[in-house]
Amino acid sequence: MKVISPSYIITMNQNFDILKGYSVLVSENKILQIEKSEKLEAIAKEKGYEIFFAPNQILIPGFVQTHIHLCQTLFRGLADDLELLDWLQLKIMPFEFAHNKESMKYSALLGISELIRCGTTTILDMGSLNHSDVIFEQLQISGLRAFHGKAMMDINTLYPKLSEPTQSALKSSEELAKAFHNTSNGRIKYAFAPRFILSCSDELLKETNELLKHYPGTLFHTHASENRTELENVRKRCGKDNIECFEELEILNEKSCIAHCIWLNENEIQLMKKRNARVLHCPSSNLKLASGIANIPRYLKEGISVSLGADGAPCNNFLDIFVEMRLASIIQKPLHGPKSMSAKQVFELATIGGAKALHLENEIGSIEIGKKADLVLIELNQIHNSMHLNEENLYSTIVFTCNYSNVRSVMIDGNWVFRNYEFTTINLDEVISKSQEELNKLLLRVK
Ligand SMILES: [Zn+2]
Repeated sequence: MKVISPSYIITMNQNFDILKGYSVLVSENKILQIEKSEKLEAIAKEKGYEIFFAPNQILIPGFVQTHIHLCQTLFRGLADDLELLDWLQLKIMPFEFAHNKESMKYSALLGISELIRCGTTTILDMGSLNHSDVIFEQLQISGLRAFHGKAMMDINTLYPKLSEPTQSALKSSEELAKAFHNTSNGRIKYAFAPRFILSCSDELLKETNELLKHYPGTLFHTHASENRTELENVRKRCGKDNIECFEELEILNEKSCIAHCIWLNENEIQLMKKRNARVLHCPSSNLKLASGIANIPRYLKEGISVSLGADGAPCNNFLDIFVEMRLASIIQKPLHGPKSMSAKQVFELATIGGAKALHLENEIGSIEIGKKADLVLIELNQIHNSMHLNEENLYSTIVFTCNYSNVRSVMIDGNWVFRNYEFTTINLDEVISKSQEELNKLLLRVK
């Protein structure tokens, strides 16, 4: 039993309640009670529960990032100033192909470390063709909550070596799902991941959608409508745009988690709405790869699910949700006015919005009795936090003036994975030095 006593709790419950002078009681991996601090602290003292006093700290739900590529973390800074298809063809696909188990292990660990350090407690991650078992193992050990799946590619005109026959993509994905879906007390789940239309045959896309039905709780994770050249190539192949193509194949549904969705036509917006598909919005990546700006205010107005992700380290170059929240808000303001994408709205996308996208809204995304204890303590003690704090500006304080350095402690599934600025499950010095070592060896393997 653990009691956490912060100054404020941002609950993200249905009423968006903000609680002052309240504490949270965590039992095993769940939130058991939310009660006035004096009362809960008295009970804790009497019963000998552990109390975590957190003065000048705000307790928030752990952040959910719905589009990440842990397999690319080592490639940060090695693929700058390129547009999507060149970025993939010249850099990322050859790098991914050069991974071995050790380099994949440290790519995953480095990414997981950064995500936890920045207060992210749940991710939806897309792997590469190989070594997804290694990523699953690191997710299990580190304590992060995650969906992961290997990238499925049975066509690859950009880099043919990084592809496999249709049946092999399906079979190996299914084997991984069998081995890892719902492991670690349900914390680790599988998301089937056809990379994007240009790397997948119609047969692969359709059969993947069938596979999902055999594994309840899995997701369909892909990219679409990110870049205009990609769009032209999709039109050449299918005679239509990405989302229309998914619709024609009868694979667009509430399990479709689709990264980017920048260049959707009107019909596609209506299809996303009708089929209840999810938009995974990655503002840094979309700007840095010169892809475009998705019309998120419009999607939200239509009631389409939108959540946030940093994408991969080489197209961002952070995995920091604070950067994504800030950008998700301010990139829309010149186009849609100062009231568009408020701090509260983007904070919602980064917490309960992400949980809803992954169909986990009954388990995570808010601080409510019965939910999993995925919690983050934000401490406002830095140079950029010197200001008057009140209940009105709590969201804007976090979205517009906080960064990763304000994350003091992170709990996932009831366990502190980062406490008082220290990792508990990860040896960071070792991760950083081994990552560099493995990257150097990987670069020698790239042809
Ligand atoms: Zn991506």
